[in-house]
Amino acid sequence: MIKKKPKYGLLIDYEYCTGCHTCELACAQEYKHQPGVRGIKVFEVEQKLPNGSAYLTYFPFPTEVCILCPHLTKKGLEPACVKHCMAACMKYGRIEDLAVEIKKPRMVLWSGKQ
Ligand code: SF4
Ligand code: SF4
Repeated sequence: MIKKKPKYGLLIDYEYCTGCHTCELACAQEYKHQPGVRGIKVFEVEQKLPNGSAYLTYFPFPTEVCILCPHLTKKGLEPACVKHCMAACMKYGRIEDLAVEIKKPRMVLWSGKQ
C-alpha cells in the first residue's frame, strides 16, 4: 500500500486579527523578499452596518509565494509568520489535525503546496 505524504498548512483564526501586518513583515524578513512580494497578505474588509457605522475585519491570507517555512518546521520551529503574530491567529500543522480544530466561524484552513 502506498502511504500518502501528509499535507501541511495553516489554520487561521482571523477573529482576533488586529491587522498589524507583523506576519507580512516577518515573512518578508525571513525570505528577504523584494518590496511588494508577500508570502502572506493581510486584507481589510469594511462592512457597513445598518446603523450607519462601519465594521472592519482583517483577514491574513497566504499567497502563492508561501512555502510554509520548511527550513524552520523541519527543526520543529514555527513558521516565521506564526511565531511573530502576537494575537496567535495562526497555527501550523498537518491538515487533518488542524481540520478538527475548526470549531467556530471566522476560521479558515489553508493547505500549502508541500
Ligand atoms: S495575523 Fe497576526 S500578525 Fe498578521 S495582521 Fe493579524 S494579528 Fe497581525
Ligand atoms: S508560512 Fe513562512 S513562507 Fe508562508 S507566509 Fe508564513 S512566513 Fe511566509
